[in-house]
Amino acid sequence: MRIVVTVKLVPDLNAEKRIDPTTKRLVRTGMETVLNPYDEYALEAALQLKAKQGDDTTVTLLSMASESLKETLRKALAMGADDAVVLSDDALAGSDVAMTSAALAQALKKIGFDLVICGGLADDGSTGGVPGAIAEHLGLPGLTNARHLEIVGGTIKAQRETDSGYQAVTCPLPALVSVTMAVGEPRYASLKGIMGAKKKTIATLSGSDIGFENRAPKTELLSFAPPPARTKARIVEASDGATGARAIFDFLRERKLV
Ligand SMILES: Cc1cc2nc3c(=O)[nH]c(=O)nc-3n(C[C@H](O)[C@H](O)[C@H](O)COP(=O)(O)OP(=O)(O)OC[C@H]3O[C@@H](n4cnc5c(N)ncnc54)[C@H](O)[C@@H]3O)c2cc1C
Repeated sequence: MRIVVTVKLVPDLNAEKRIDPTTKRLVRTGMETVLNPYDEYALEAALQLKAKQGDDTTVTLLSMASESLKETLRKALAMGADDAVVLSDDALAGSDVAMTSAALAQALKKIGFDLVICGGLADDGSTGGVPGAIAEHLGLPGLTNARHLEIVGGTIKAQRETDSGYQAVTCPLPALVSVTMAVGEPRYASLKGIMGAKKKTIATLSGSDIGFENRAPKTELLSFAPPPARTKARIVEASDGATGARAIFDFLRERKLV
């Protein structure tokens, strides 16, 4: 069985972000890049399935990113993925959800898969739209927000998190799932894993390799602005807890929040 995990390479959460005013894109060079944290959970889910399935199951990473960032994937290879593919092409820069998902779907067709596992959200773009859109492009069942996965025969069983609990769902493979953080904490890479990762393959595909050329994003960023500065906080001085609680209650009631 071949499991493919989609991994976005994102700026480190603590890195200072800057938008290029001309291209209106996030400047991704010159800042620390990391694996999208949610995708580490997707990889953890894949490695758990691999351990249960046996040795002929492989886990391949797929990332659409600048080729210059591909070494960032070594961490995921050290965690236990078998190999990686980077889809990289200057023409893909500036991709929106529609273009990203269409390109990843084409790459998945080229690579081949039985199961695709995605993170639920990218730390930077944060639309959460890519997994469902890939499933649509490939005509696959899409099980989103899964907190537990199990392969039984030719099917995948998933528990989907909802606001009030979870749904138990099943569908035939091939399929696509996206996972929540409840699948389990991503494992640390062992020393053996780190050493072994150095020899693992990171292949590169271009737009023409996957028959994905002359496409354009369907959305256009019109403008952007920093969030408004915070207004000054109101400080309440209270002589005791009861007076403080009363002041908080009055504050909330004024705003019709209680
Ligand atoms: C006009 C416009 C231009 C944009 N230009 C860029 C750009 O140049 N670069 C850019 O990164 N974003 C760009 N974006 C943001 C872009 O919409 C998203 O980054 C991208 O489409 C993925 O969506 P997301 O980040 O919201 O992913 P989500 O839907 O939040 O991601 C969910 C999951 O999908 C998978 N996934 C998402 N993206 C990738 C990827 N690239 N490779 C592998 N797996 C992935 C991961 O498993 C992730 O956890 C642009 C957006 C607009 C509107």
